[in-house]
Amino acid sequence: SAVKSLSTCIFCKIIKGEIPSFKLLETEFTFSFLDINPLSKGHSLVIPKFHGEKLHDVPDEYLADTLSIAKKIAIAQGAENYNILQNNGRIAHQLVDHVHFHVIPKPSDSKAEG
Ligand code: 5GP
Ligand code: ZN
Repeated sequence: SAVKSLSTCIFCKIIKGEIPSFKLLETEFTFSFLDINPLSKGHSLVIPKFHGEKLHDVPDEYLADTLSIAKKIAIAQGAENYNILQNNGRIAHQLVDHVHFHVIPKPSDSKAEG
């Protein structure tokens, strides 16, 4: 299959089922699951099944599928107001060194600036 993993990476372990997660969608190239510390109800993480630390480390065939799955999740959640975030490097607030897209629903009762 199309999985390239790093034995020490927590997100690679989640893909392999070695760390439990609340799985959403999975394809040959992508895995998605709920964030353990959600910023809003349904906050999800969508990750390539390829261990790349930063966006520029990940092949396009993975990224295309991963973004497609992020879109599907946003649609499934209602697709009215939401943020897609992807951080690269500590200064840019990246804590887990495996590329991940956050899908963060913004409920209609949330503040415009929040
Ligand atoms: P970053 O700051 O790297 O963009 O975001 C990392 C995200 O991963 C955080 O929102 C954090 O809550 C989430 N996270 C970290 N460890 C785990 C874990 O073991 N399981 C799940 N489901 N989410 C995690
Ligand atoms: Zn990894």
